[in-house]
Amino acid sequence: MCIFCQIAGGEIPNNTVLENDDFLAFHDLYPKAPVHVLIIPKQHVDCFQDVAPETMAGLTAFAQEVARTLGVDQTGYRLITNNGEDGGQEVPHLHFHMLGGGKLKWDHFHEDTHKNI
Ligand code: 5GP
Ligand code: ZN
Repeated sequence: MCIFCQIAGGEIPNNTVLENDDFLAFHDLYPKAPVHVLIIPKQHVDCFQDVAPETMAGLTAFAQEVARTLGVDQTGYRLITNNGEDGGQEVPHLHFHMLGGGKLKWDHFHEDTHKNI
């Protein structure tokens, strides 16, 4: 079972922000911004490329509620999903990073060229 399935199932503890029957939001263990929360469907889906649009409809409403819970609905945030190898996905269970709590940089580098793309 994947690590986020174990978190969703309560086998690995997490710092929960918000939860309902279908989705869980919890603080990232290695935050890359003052606010760094992960949003996952409890049911395993590998990545964004495989997710059903109906799941995304529910996840959208849930993510908006997470933003309100954190207060970043007022200040702004970034919602990111890394998809697959080139996208830098490390955990093979669909998750969205909600980043905020301060001005975020926007500097995505291509690994081979180190050129800003
Ligand atoms: P990815 O690189 O797959 O898009 O993001 C995976 C994220 O999961 C990373 O930001 C990493 O810090 C976080 N992470 C990995 N393992 C754990 C864990 O056991 N607990 C929590 N809360 N976050 C984790
Ligand atoms: Zn999983």
